[in-house]
Amino acid sequence: MAFKGAIDIDKEKCKGCAVCVANCPTASIQLSKMVNNKGYHYAEMVGEGCIGCSSCAIVCPDSVISVYRIKI
Ligand code: SF4
Ligand code: SF4
Repeated sequence: MAFKGAIDIDKEKCKGCAVCVANCPTASIQLSKMVNNKGYHYAEMVGEGCIGCSSCAIVCPDSVISVYRIKI
Protein backbone atom coordinates (compact mmCIF):
# COMPACT_ATOMS: atom_id res chain seq x y z
CA MET A 1 0.00 0.00 0.00
CA ALA A 2 1.44 3.37 -0.99
CA PHE A 3 1.27 6.55 1.01
CA LYS A 4 2.20 10.14 0.55
CA GLY A 5 2.67 12.70 3.26
CA ALA A 6 0.94 15.95 4.06
CA ILE A 7 1.33 18.52 6.78
CA ASP A 8 -0.91 21.04 8.45
CA ILE A 9 0.74 24.12 9.96
CA ASP A 10 -1.02 26.32 12.51
CA LYS A 11 0.10 29.47 10.75
CA GLU A 12 -1.03 31.84 13.48
CA LYS A 13 1.25 30.07 15.98
CA CYS A 14 4.21 29.85 13.60
CA LYS A 15 7.05 32.30 14.31
CA GLY A 16 8.76 31.90 10.94
CA CYS A 17 12.02 30.56 12.34
CA ALA A 18 12.50 28.30 9.27
CA VAL A 19 13.92 25.39 11.29
CA CYS A 20 11.37 23.15 9.58
CA VAL A 21 12.42 24.43 6.16
CA ALA A 22 16.04 23.55 6.86
CA ASN A 23 15.16 20.05 8.08
CA CYS A 24 12.79 18.87 5.37
CA PRO A 25 14.59 16.26 3.23
CA THR A 26 12.31 16.87 0.24
CA ALA A 27 12.22 20.69 0.25
CA SER A 28 8.47 20.59 0.80
CA ILE A 29 8.24 23.59 3.13
CA GLN A 30 8.91 27.25 2.50
CA LEU A 31 8.17 30.48 4.28
CA SER A 32 5.17 32.27 2.83
CA LYS A 33 5.42 35.73 1.35
CA MET A 34 2.33 36.46 3.46
CA VAL A 35 2.50 37.17 7.17
CA ASN A 36 0.32 35.99 10.03
CA ASN A 37 -1.40 38.17 12.61
CA LYS A 38 1.88 38.50 14.52
CA GLY A 39 3.71 39.68 11.42
CA TYR A 40 5.75 36.52 10.86
CA HIS A 41 6.29 34.90 7.49
CA TYR A 42 4.73 31.56 8.34
CA ALA A 43 5.74 28.15 6.99
CA GLU A 44 3.66 26.43 4.32
CA MET A 45 3.82 23.16 2.43
CA VAL A 46 4.79 23.33 -1.23
CA GLY A 47 4.59 20.78 -4.01
CA GLU A 48 3.76 17.10 -3.80
CA GLY A 49 7.04 15.79 -2.42
CA CYS A 50 6.16 15.35 1.25
CA ILE A 51 6.90 11.80 2.41
CA GLY A 52 5.37 12.13 5.86
CA CYS A 53 8.70 11.65 7.66
CA SER A 54 7.73 13.99 10.55
CA SER A 55 11.15 15.62 10.63
CA CYS A 56 9.58 19.08 10.42
CA ALA A 57 7.15 18.37 13.26
CA ILE A 58 9.92 17.01 15.48
CA VAL A 59 12.19 20.03 15.08
CA CYS A 60 9.52 22.73 15.27
CA PRO A 61 10.20 24.50 18.59
CA ASP A 62 6.53 25.40 19.02
CA SER A 63 5.02 22.10 17.85
CA VAL A 64 2.68 23.74 15.36
CA ILE A 65 3.04 21.14 12.58
CA SER A 66 0.79 18.08 12.25
CA VAL A 67 1.84 15.33 9.85
CA TYR A 68 -0.52 13.01 7.99
CA ARG A 69 -0.06 10.04 5.74
CA ILE A 70 -2.53 9.77 2.93
CA LYS A 71 -3.20 6.48 1.14
CA ILE A 72 -2.70 6.75 -2.63
S1 SF4 B 1 6.81 15.41 6.94
FE1 SF4 B 1 8.96 15.26 6.18
S2 SF4 B 1 8.82 15.45 3.96
FE2 SF4 B 1 6.85 16.18 4.82
S3 SF4 B 1 7.14 18.43 4.98
FE3 SF4 B 1 7.70 17.49 6.99
S4 SF4 B 1 9.97 17.18 6.86
FE4 SF4 B 1 9.19 17.52 4.76
S1 SF4 C 1 9.77 25.34 12.75
FE1 SF4 C 1 7.66 25.74 13.49
S2 SF4 C 1 7.68 27.88 14.18
FE2 SF4 C 1 9.53 27.58 12.90
S3 SF4 C 1 8.88 28.18 10.80
FE3 SF4 C 1 8.53 25.97 10.99
S4 SF4 C 1 6.37 25.76 11.62
FE4 SF4 C 1 7.01 27.87 12.04
